[in-house]
Amino acid sequence: MSHCNKKMLSFFLTTRCNLCCSYCYNAKERNAIEEKTLPLEIAKAGIDWYFNQNDSRHIRFYGPGEPTQEFERLKEITAYAKAHPNRGEKVTIEIQTNGVFTEDVRNWALDNFNIMWMSFDGMKDIQSHNRPLNPLFSSLFNDRSSADVLEDNVKWLISNKGDRNLMVGARVTITDININRQTEMVDYFYDLGIRYVWTNPLFHSVGKVPVCLDEKKKQAYHFNMDLYLDNYLKAYEYAKSKGVFWGSFLAINFDGESPYHCRCCTPLSAPHLTPDGYISACDMVVLGEKPYHMSPFIVGKWDADTHEFWVDLEKVKVLENRKSTEMAHCRNCPVKLHCGGCCLGETVNEFGRLDGQNVVKCQCH
Ligand code: SF4
Ligand code: SF4
Ligand code: SF4
Repeated sequence: MSHCNKKMLSFFLTTRCNLCCSYCYNAKERNAIEEKTLPLEIAKAGIDWYFNQNDSRHIRFYGPGEPTQEFERLKEITAYAKAHPNRGEKVTIEIQTNGVFTEDVRNWALDNFNIMWMSFDGMKDIQSHNRPLNPLFSSLFNDRSSADVLEDNVKWLISNKGDRNLMVGARVTITDININRQTEMVDYFYDLGIRYVWTNPLFHSVGKVPVCLDEKKKQAYHFNMDLYLDNYLKAYEYAKSKGVFWGSFLAINFDGESPYHCRCCTPLSAPHLTPDGYISACDMVVLGEKPYHMSPFIVGKWDADTHEFWVDLEKVKVLENRKSTEMAHCRNCPVKLHCGGCCLGETVNEFGRLDGQNVVKCQCH
């Protein structure tokens, strides 16, 4: 299924995280506020609201921190969704996790998740460099590194899954240190039992102004797109020969056709609830109170007085109109119905405009 057709309700569960990734896209934003977790009342109301107007029964746990850090809340939300009178028995569950969790979590994960995307940048030296454990959590894992814990958890989940409906895949951020090691990574993941991998070039963190106005951030960024693509294509062919899917976020809709890049343009069929009680359209906009230049993606809010969600239909309409068939730079592009105008979260973060051209990823004239 092409990415833009994936319909689900996402929970941005908590700002708490146990890692200190070197490129974290929201660490500054999270560290600037008190720790926040999505209140159960809002999560339950979100499930009622979503299930009443959508056929999809897919729910998903995602950032802004590490969702398994609020394990009890995660279990409560899952239990509520699965027992829901409106086709709760059809519920399927996905998580994007850093995979650094305890045995309690992994035992539960085995029986409850259907899709687990592990944020996993490759062999241990890369993983330890990019995604180290926050030292405050070391004793919980007997001083093992985040790479050791993640690798153990992945191996254990895959070797114990039996005939359960569970897929464990890797979501890889490509940086200067793994850009030349994609083929080697195919073998590493293959040996762990992973058969589905998505790679994504490093992208900018979200700050208070678009990257185009932040000289320091622009200068600190380095990514060699041509090198990534050369190595990606080699790894793709090699992975295919081993029965492994090696994907790129640059081609997430190439198995279908749509003028949309992703679910972000249809936010009422794929909303994300933030820990501070807002409805976000995009994975990059994880808190709603002060979205700054990312405000086009905050399309609604929980009203604690009326106990209902308020939706800004004007903003929804603007997102629905963000189509590759409508944007000047995309209209004549031969891949417009696959690319859908590029990731709009990244585009707005980098260029400040929903209909801007992401010149890092698109060089069409
Ligand atoms: S696991 Fe995710 S939220 Fe936590 S530091 Fe890493 S990138 Fe940031
Ligand atoms: S716009 Fe980009 S970051 Fe946002 S949900 Fe879509 S693919 Fe993800
Ligand atoms: S012009 Fe660029 S952004 Fe637009 S559809 Fe084509 S490749 Fe994508």
